[in-house]
Amino acid sequence: MAFQEYTIPKLKDFPSGKIGSSIVHTVDENPFPLIYVDLTHRCNYCCNYCYNPVRTLPDMSLKYFREVCRRLPNRVAFRFMGGEPTLHPQFLEFITTANEHKHMVSFVSNGAVFTDLSLARALKDTGVPVIATISMNGGSNNAWYRHIDNGDYAEEKLKALQNLDDVGIRRIAITAIIVRGVNEGVVMDLMDLSERYKSVRYIHYRSIGKVGKFIDSDPYTLEELKGIVDSRIPYDKVYKRKVKIDGLDPTPGNRCLGCMGCYEYHHNPKIEICLIDFAKPETFRCWKRGKLIEGTFQVESFFENMVQFSSYLDRTLLE
Ligand code: SF4
Repeated sequence: MAFQEYTIPKLKDFPSGKIGSSIVHTVDENPFPLIYVDLTHRCNYCCNYCYNPVRTLPDMSLKYFREVCRRLPNRVAFRFMGGEPTLHPQFLEFITTANEHKHMVSFVSNGAVFTDLSLARALKDTGVPVIATISMNGGSNNAWYRHIDNGDYAEEKLKALQNLDDVGIRRIAITAIIVRGVNEGVVMDLMDLSERYKSVRYIHYRSIGKVGKFIDSDPYTLEELKGIVDSRIPYDKVYKRKVKIDGLDPTPGNRCLGCMGCYEYHHNPKIEICLIDFAKPETFRCWKRGKLIEGTFQVESFFENMVQFSSYLDRTLLE
């Protein structure tokens, strides 16, 4: 699938390891229930919105990751990211390694490799109850994909989803960035897909984050995102909505203290929806999301790390 080449951004004198987030812990003292991990920085897409567009950093070593798993004091949920995590030659071994240490695993992929049924089957054959997340910024609409992912990807995304569902991956998440004035229609598109595929259990809608590579526009706030989703996906008539995380609620006692970062709820017994206002300063103190700083035994606040990392991008190459 042809896409418009663009110059891969370089990093300005990037200090390896800690990049200056204010919230840093050693892996042995990790407080975060959810840890994001970049398995590789390589990718087979060239999206117009990419929070992690640098392709020059090395792949993560499995030996190092095994030591991280061993040293963590508690059971965590890992979220494998990148670049495109499925391009790591030991992608499946990272999944089984985390599982051997009793950690939970999900990954976020553009889905391209799962157009090959044998790779979807290989994932299933690991026997790990992994959550497979496919980014579907355009749902089934190529015009939206062209704007956000810089290519006509509807067909391959739907093929990947079909293959993962066919091989019996039981928990699939589908996600979309909502760009103001561009793809609000994807809200219902993903909901329809979740009704078509029994294994789609999670839907994530998020605002654009002004980090990495992005087309500058006014991001939706969490309140606006909730308004858009509620106006298109009304409350389930039978099932009373169960709110899991409410970043909109400032009342003391709410662990999120109204950070306005995310809003997560059970829409009905099958579907969980999560709305995220991405990488805003208020979310730097998120108690839930940490980022493993590759090559070190440190974890930092995920959103703050992302904004700090982005500040090292040589933007002259992105214009
Ligand atoms: S970003 Fe973190 S602290 Fe903020 S609402 Fe979400 S889970 Fe809570």
